[in-house]
Amino acid sequence: MLGSMMTMPLLISSLLRHAERHHGEQEIVSRRVEGDLHRTTYRQLAARSRRLAKALARRGMKASDRIATLAWNGYRHLELYYAVSGAGGILHTINPRLHPDQVVYLADHAEDGVLFFDLSFLPLVENIATRVKTIKAFVALADRAQMPAQSSIPGLECYEDWIAGSDDDFAWPSFDENSAAALCYTSGTTGNPKGVLYSHRSTLLYAYASALPDSFNLSASDSILPVVPMFHVNAWGLPYSACLTGARLVFPGPALDGKSLYELIEAEKVSFAAGVPTIWQGLLTHLEQNAARFSTLKRTIIGGAACPPAMIEKFEKTHGVHVIHGWGMTETSPCVTAGSFKAKHQALTDDQRLTLQAKQGRVLPGVDIKVVAPEGGELPWDGDSSGELLVKGHWVLSRYFREEGSGPLIDGWFPTGDVANIDADGYMHITDRSKDVIKSGGEWIGSVDLENIAMGHPAVAMAACIAARHPKWDERPLLVVVKKPGHEVSREELLGFYEGRIPKWWTPDDVVFVDSIPLGATGKMQKNKLREQFADYRLPTV
Ligand code: ADP
Repeated sequence: MLGSMMTMPLLISSLLRHAERHHGEQEIVSRRVEGDLHRTTYRQLAARSRRLAKALARRGMKASDRIATLAWNGYRHLELYYAVSGAGGILHTINPRLHPDQVVYLADHAEDGVLFFDLSFLPLVENIATRVKTIKAFVALADRAQMPAQSSIPGLECYEDWIAGSDDDFAWPSFDENSAAALCYTSGTTGNPKGVLYSHRSTLLYAYASALPDSFNLSASDSILPVVPMFHVNAWGLPYSACLTGARLVFPGPALDGKSLYELIEAEKVSFAAGVPTIWQGLLTHLEQNAARFSTLKRTIIGGAACPPAMIEKFEKTHGVHVIHGWGMTETSPCVTAGSFKAKHQALTDDQRLTLQAKQGRVLPGVDIKVVAPEGGELPWDGDSSGELLVKGHWVLSRYFREEGSGPLIDGWFPTGDVANIDADGYMHITDRSKDVIKSGGEWIGSVDLENIAMGHPAVAMAACIAARHPKWDERPLLVVVKKPGHEVSREELLGFYEGRIPKWWTPDDVVFVDSIPLGATGKMQKNKLREQFADYRLPTV
């Protein structure tokens, strides 16, 4: 017997409809490429998204057509999120920090039909415009006054003309909730990037779960600053969960330096912000150098790379900002785990709380995790046994876009390539990525712990730990460090800093100081590049 409740497809347009009807006055603030602060509301977002959807339909967009963006976080990008997916198209957010050849590869692979872009990326679009095979229209996210006087882009169009050219009399269509809504490619540190095709259903279930109190804890009283880009796994779903909860949105546009972010947080009374550790490092340095404090920021979700405990401590103790450490990947929408406490943790000391927060948290309802030994057996939840992390759930990929063959799943689980352990309470701790693990004399040394400890030294701005070749042990840890400006620290002092913090044999064999560590397009350390750079490094053999 079936239940007798209403069934409605879980569609992205329903989030916008909800925000328009119940939070119509709620504000959306955007720092624009032009430098000014723009203000709009959910009511206007809905109306302009309908106009855009109508314009797209008039220009021939059909269900499942791919529409690409090269854009910062802002209200126009948000309109594209809702108009394209809401009308049945697929929004393909391209990372503008990629090499132009990769952008061409992605646009061709996705068979994008239209490209919308911020004018900061005009040179990039001019570079690729005649090389891409399927893009028929190039639209600058600008009004007429900002359009370039001349450009080599064939038939360059103006976004505000598109919007002005249609009215908002458009009804969001209803269709199968399993239809594709958005397309994001992995950053492809090895081989070509792979496409992850999110569905309306996966996006909605993820939005509901990620807003929960033990996840991001979002509400209509929040003012949310997504610093994580809308081209990086849909800004961790915040464009959707903001509409779901009716939270106020504050978009940083292109200004991601510490000073600009701090000023925006204060001026716009941001209560919740989301970002990766490398960007937050710039923000915290700005606060430190200017003896500044947050007056409204209450919580931040940090993920995309391991958040060093020293950063968690600074946010919590110095600035009174609660840190939620999350884990996920492009293939998982992204958030699978988030670090919230259980009732039993109320009695923890500050240090114990910090240790727990440095883990990547426990699962959001709707997904599940396990760690397996190399031979495939599931490992116990003892907080110690490390193995490959596998995930499954409503917002986890089952196969890559246009991939042939049997797909990546193993018995219905997605293998992440990360190495982790899980404790008895279900808190997961990433110790490494399998390709970054250091294999010393047949034993594994997790590089993340070694980096976290180095990051706790007051003179260290950034630290990466990589495997260097060793004649006796095969591999040994080499610590690569960027010092904070104006700070000094010696190799001996840093190596001594590990004493008592880890088993002695994990201590790096050597330290090299560098001016910078290469970062990838999503702000993560590119340890593969460092490994190439130090491939011939000779460790001291004492
Ligand atoms: P890419 O895999 O191309 O770097 P993703 O953004 O999908 O792009 O990155 C996912 C990976 O980032 C995870 O597999 C994991 O290695 C790393 N990661 C994400 N969040 C964390 C975290 N909180 N701690 C440690 N590693 C993390």
